[in-house]
Amino acid sequence: MALTQKQIQEENAMIEHITNHALNEDPNSNAPIPKIGKNVDMGRVLNGVREQIGKKNWKPNPDLTEEELKLMREDVQDRIIVARVGLLLRHPFFGNMATRLRIVPADDWCPTAAVDGRNLYFNTQFFNALNNREIEFVIAHEILHCVFDHLLRREDRDAMLYNIACDYIVNNLLVREGIGEKPKIIDCYQDFKYENWTSEEVYDDLEQKFDEEELKQLGELLDEHVDWSKDPNEDQQGQAPSANSGDGEPTKGKGRPSYSKEELRKIRDEIKENMISAAQSAGAGNVPAGVERMIKEFTEPKMNWREILRQQIQSTIRDDYTFSRPGRKGWHTGAILPGMNFQETIDLCICIDMSGSIGNDQAKDFLGEVKGIMDEYRDYNIKLWCFDTEVYNEADFSADGGESLEDYEVHGGGGTDFMVNWTYMKEHNIVPKKLLMFTDGYAWDSWGEEDYCETVFVIHSNRDKNLQAPFGITAHYEEAA
Ligand SMILES: [Zn+2]
Repeated sequence: MALTQKQIQEENAMIEHITNHALNEDPNSNAPIPKIGKNVDMGRVLNGVREQIGKKNWKPNPDLTEEELKLMREDVQDRIIVARVGLLLRHPFFGNMATRLRIVPADDWCPTAAVDGRNLYFNTQFFNALNNREIEFVIAHEILHCVFDHLLRREDRDAMLYNIACDYIVNNLLVREGIGEKPKIIDCYQDFKYENWTSEEVYDDLEQKFDEEELKQLGELLDEHVDWSKDPNEDQQGQAPSANSGDGEPTKGKGRPSYSKEELRKIRDEIKENMISAAQSAGAGNVPAGVERMIKEFTEPKMNWREILRQQIQSTIRDDYTFSRPGRKGWHTGAILPGMNFQETIDLCICIDMSGSIGNDQAKDFLGEVKGIMDEYRDYNIKLWCFDTEVYNEADFSADGGESLEDYEVHGGGGTDFMVNWTYMKEHNIVPKKLLMFTDGYAWDSWGEEDYCETVFVIHSNRDKNLQAPFGITAHYEEAA
């Protein structure tokens, strides 16, 4: 329900009053807090107060002289080195990564902190307002943006939302692992409900649930998330050229670097190498699980799902047709019903999980891929169906022509129950040489029956690229680039 103007006014008045009261800034602040109007949502008011207090706790001092700032900068630089040592001792992976970043003062363009994969940029007054443990937190925060590839991963997502999503991911990990202390002068985005999510998933959640105003209530970014591919000087286009920009030198206030796409990819590779060697020197047990997963992804060569699919189908079809219906272990203990129409040679059963995030296009892409492989064979039989909590739309395809796999209509939308596929096969006396399941991997309960037939799970999901089915073969579907 949308807030009325009156509610907003009343709540804002409460927020201001309580904040002033708490900070003792208002000479009238000792006046009693007004009665809470019936339109006021105290949860929202308290969030507002929290935000105000967070912001009021710290402001850069605009009156510092150059000399004072210089001294402060030297002190801050020393303290960053100390924090780095602290990280090396307590959290060697982060300490090791930190020593690979050049520490660069950036008061002219950076109000907090920023990172480009090679340099850690700091604002003197911002860092000066942090204690040593909070500096550790900020350094580790910057390192995690590199580790999780947040510099290049945004693609065409909305920058503000994606930045918030990334800070949730990073801050959650730091708080959970107890790395440094969350700075008090910033009301950081942090919420354990996003535990083990990817930045893309948090992004989708934020996009669905919150508008811009509400996002501000949830917290604020810890640091500057710079789009390094954008030249800061371009922002000045259309403005009168300033006196000192003629020689190509960056003008004051625009001193930050920018990189070509190619250079950024090079930086990404450097970060990967750094991560692997930092993890090695940190030793087992000293790398947070989320980071370990990222490293595993880089270092373990992964087979493309198409290769796996091809390999699996080929191994199935190349068998001679000695497949015999009865005699599979462990399943049909019951009598076979008379009059049952047995399938002669079912090479492949394909079941498509239509419960979750799989769209028609993805399913068709997947079927197109299967068809491409099948076109190489003179003889085959495929049985195809969709499922959510039940099986439907069963259809048969063979080399003799008829309908094309790609024209198959996919339907679905309910919950998920992987077992319905096995129940269905048993009820209909279907024992394929291989079962291919195209799924998002959200098996609520059982993944199916291990011993029934060979199973290949082609998982379409951004959630966890390391998700493995408990049996059979797992491949991760990726959309054509
Ligand atoms: Zn950040």
